[in-house]
Amino acid sequence: MELTPSEVWSHVLGLVQERMPELSFRTWLHGTQAVAVHGSEILVEVPSDFHAEWIEDRYGDHLKELATRVTGQEVSISFRSASTSGLRVAPEVAVVQPPPPGATPSSPSATPDPGGRPCHGSLNERYTFDRFVVGNNNQLATAASRAVAENPGRSYNPLFLYGGVGLGKTHLMHAVGHAILERSPGARVAYVTTEQFMNELVRSIQQATTREFRQRFRQIDLLLVDDVHFLERKDSTQEEFFHTFNALYDAGKQVILTSDRPPKELPGVEERLVSRFEWGLVADIKMPDYETRVAILQKKAADDGLTLDDEVMDFIARSCTSSVRELEGAVIKLLAYSSLRREEINLALARSALEGVIRDGGARTAPRLTATRIRERVAEEWGVTSADLASKRRTRQLTVPRQVAMYLIKELLDESLVRIGEGFGGRDHSTVIHSIRKVESALEEDADFARRVIRVRQHLESA
Ligand code: ADP
Ligand code: MG
Repeated sequence: MELTPSEVWSHVLGLVQERMPELSFRTWLHGTQAVAVHGSEILVEVPSDFHAEWIEDRYGDHLKELATRVTGQEVSISFRSASTSGLRVAPEVAVVQPPPPGATPSSPSATPDPGGRPCHGSLNERYTFDRFVVGNNNQLATAASRAVAENPGRSYNPLFLYGGVGLGKTHLMHAVGHAILERSPGARVAYVTTEQFMNELVRSIQQATTREFRQRFRQIDLLLVDDVHFLERKDSTQEEFFHTFNALYDAGKQVILTSDRPPKELPGVEERLVSRFEWGLVADIKMPDYETRVAILQKKAADDGLTLDDEVMDFIARSCTSSVRELEGAVIKLLAYSSLRREEINLALARSALEGVIRDGGARTAPRLTATRIRERVAEEWGVTSADLASKRRTRQLTVPRQVAMYLIKELLDESLVRIGEGFGGRDHSTVIHSIRKVESALEEDADFARRVIRVRQHLESA
């Protein structure tokens, strides 16, 4: 009798759990799911790219062996991050969803139903005030956010939070959402990235549903718009944004915005919008100082039930100086390392575990990986030239590698769709979305293709 992929996978997990330290199992494999099978290949969805690489590297062969034993035939397993299965405009959170075709204006995820059920799914559960450490880097931003949570629409409207990547802007804005929902469970809270806002607007224009689009956004009590620096030069989006903003503001509804720079420095954003952004309060978030970094580590350790002694925390806090996200990455890596080597976490272990992380100081955000580099590597893999990919030429031979390059740029660099399009003969952002979706579905349907893309990706990430 044939087993389904998930049956095979749960047998495999059962077997491996007996052979592996509990902590490692919990860290890496617990909760993973088999999502598809292609011939003799099982595709398993795991929480992040980091998990995918790690599991593949360390446990890949062993898992394959067990799967082969369970099914009685040669089986291979590939791992994929759950986040790559959707268009990753908003990591971890998906919110004001596009209405399904033919839906009524108030689709449930955008505006809660008339009963006022809020869309909790739109906020990251971990991003609460409780879990946010206040330091001198974010004092004003936190105080303002708390004030807004207590008095939405009345204290600071809009609240504009700005600062570098990975410093807690999204966390704080979600915290306000949670606090408001806790007090008024019927409140209509919507979180949207600027790109989602733009994509939805474009879709509504194409489908002639802009009225519904407007209504949907204008019925919201708290609107959280993340990363407004992506508004750059998108005139129709700015126009619509301006009107949405005014409608909410006039109705006394709260708006919170985040950006990587202050309103005045937003290039290509029209003056009247900049001045709206400055109406309320503009607060920045900086990199936490050493003491705050230690406090954040202590908090994370306490929240996740870890024991990290002072020496180790001191080492991590000194080594990670680019963002809070880097700090978190270091802890995850250290945990993984310790469970794998079955060694206690101590300073020596921390040093060797974090060697790579620290040497390239947050390699993922470092400028070394560029769109050009990605285009070149993809061109090489598909045997075409990078210049051809960047051109307007439309030959069949170029279609797939061009789509893959766009997909990888989005995945690895988090560039805006417009900017990605510019690097490929000035293609517009809807072409870019289309390309990315194509790749995503091909990844699901074609194992050879998926392997090829993963190989290119790993090569780029490890370079
Ligand atoms: P940004 O939106 O500024 O790029 P995020 O809000 O996504 O950054 O934060 C990056 C990570 O760092 C998140 O996991 C967040 O929970 C964490 N973080 C940032 N600042 C703090 C803080 N002060 N206390 C606790 N966690 C923080
Ligand atoms: Mg953010």
